[in-house]
Amino acid sequence: ILILGIESSCDETAAAVVKNGREVLSNVISSQIELHKLYGGVVPEIASRKHIEKINQVIEEALSSAKVTLDDIDAIGVTYGPGLVGALLVGVAEAKAISYAAKKPLVGVHHIEGHVSANYIENRELEPPFLCLIVSGGHTHLVLVNDYGEYKIIGRTRDDAAGEAFDKVARAIGLGYPGGPKIDRLAKEGNSKAIKFPRANIEGAPYDFSFSGLKSAVLNHINSCKMKDIEINNADIAASFQEAVVDVLTSKTILAAKEYGMKKVALAGGVASNGSLREGMLRECKKNKIELYYPSPIYCTDNAAMIGVAAYYEFIKGARADLDLNAVPNLKIGQR
Ligand code: ATP
Ligand code: MG
Ligand code: FE
Repeated sequence: ILILGIESSCDETAAAVVKNGREVLSNVISSQIELHKLYGGVVPEIASRKHIEKINQVIEEALSSAKVTLDDIDAIGVTYGPGLVGALLVGVAEAKAISYAAKKPLVGVHHIEGHVSANYIENRELEPPFLCLIVSGGHTHLVLVNDYGEYKIIGRTRDDAAGEAFDKVARAIGLGYPGGPKIDRLAKEGNSKAIKFPRANIEGAPYDFSFSGLKSAVLNHINSCKMKDIEINNADIAASFQEAVVDVLTSKTILAAKEYGMKKVALAGGVASNGSLREGMLRECKKNKIELYYPSPIYCTDNAAMIGVAAYYEFIKGARADLDLNAVPNLKIGQR
């Protein structure tokens, strides 16, 4: 079964062809990062317009580099939420048009379920049930993946997402957008023990996260250095901040895995490509005899291959979207 996956929820216009839910035949991503960099973040209106400009070309490229035509495709999977409404609508409208014109079934995909499904691409032996730590630009969730497409959220962030915290701290130390990869790099030159940043725990909710206090602590540190005329060491800030995030993510994930008896843990979303998070998780999982899975960096951030994978598992269960499929900017996990 061949799925054409389409993704346009944020600032990546992407299309991919996926065979039998696990094999990526093509994965084309047109990123708008250079464009949004100028503004220090994603500008929704610009994102939508750029998606419209690129989407046909990206889809054609995905088909041709997979050496297939639309005729060979069994179904079209498209992200319909969550994300920026104008951006989502471009992909959804395009997918509906192709579905109608080429008489191909349509499957609506949850973007975050796509991020989770990215783990199936390179880990052919991975099957549910497993525990997944979702750490993306807009989401931080601990979910039990009980079966394909069956998710139970056991923890979530109360304020900022992990990726959002990376981006905000990066901005504060002048690294620019997107900040995650830049902090990852700069942290290697810093001392992670140099500054004591807080690790937030929420009473009565052991699997919930909070990153806004950490972000404030970073800003306070910068301000107090300025006031006392102390030199600001950005590499130390990056390393100490990153370690605080990794500590919290790792300890809560391991705690949850033990509590729920999960022997397999997967990471998903853009922050899953963070070197320090991968190291920390590998170390703790090994200690606790837990198998750790994560996608290659290219499948951690937004892409359409993960959407094709998620669509496949929905498709074989019989899920079909009608031509009245609409973008749902605040779509919840597990909601259909
Ligand atoms: P969502 O998926 O929640 O809708 P999104 O699609 O914008 O949000 P992703 O594409 O999953 O988010 O990931 C982008 C985020 O990942 C950004 O916040 C970025 O800073 C972060 N990120 C990417 N690489 C790294 C890294 N190496 N270390 C830390 N953070 C990273
Ligand atoms: Mg992006
Ligand atoms: Fe994403």
